[in-house]
Amino acid sequence: MTDYLFEPTAPATIPIIGSDKLYPVNRIFCVGRNYEAHAAEMGAVVDREAPFYFTKSPTTLVMAEGEIAYAPRTENYHYEMELVFALKSGGTNIAEADALTHIYGCAAGLDMTRRDLQNKAKENRKPWDTAKDVDESAVITPLRQMSEVPSVASGRIHLSQNGTVKQDADLSEMVWSVPEIIADLSTMYTLQQGDVIYMGTPAGVGAVSRGDVLAGGVDGIGDFELKIV
Ligand code: MN
Repeated sequence: MTDYLFEPTAPATIPIIGSDKLYPVNRIFCVGRNYEAHAAEMGAVVDREAPFYFTKSPTTLVMAEGEIAYAPRTENYHYEMELVFALKSGGTNIAEADALTHIYGCAAGLDMTRRDLQNKAKENRKPWDTAKDVDESAVITPLRQMSEVPSVASGRIHLSQNGTVKQDADLSEMVWSVPEIIADLSTMYTLQQGDVIYMGTPAGVGAVSRGDVLAGGVDGIGDFELKIV
């Protein structure tokens, strides 16, 4: 038995629809600016040169239900509604044609963001970590197994805040498709089972306040309702 100084933290896990097993999370990757209209509202132009990524610690994962904490050290905490997928296998230099075979399942998620810190980081050419790698910021629904997922290429993705629709788009509007992201990311990392990828948000992002009810989902994949406290 390994003689750890203290008990290692148990892995973050995601429940699986139709299974008693839990999906153990290895890493969380997030795609930036993957919908043209969202890039535009952030004052950026999408290029087709290369996707870009940032990461969140697995410890930031929280289920999309009940109450989610408003993050400290921000006055502008934003929701970003996203398609999420989770790998069952990985590798390097994965071909686009094989990419979908590595996915275990999909979920709906929120990439909660300290927008004020992100904007300041952009201005000062500093990293995004404290804007994105925020406790309880990787919000996710239970995983739907790939055999039950209608599509990762099309389908409605939407979010409402206190009953008002704020984000309403289609997965087909993604600049980089799921197979393209798996292929590209696997040229930079050896992808592994347990890796979870957030696919970027459509237009309509905005700030939350304590007490807000967020309801969202991706058609055929997952729906949620939660309260910011
Ligand atoms: Mn995002």
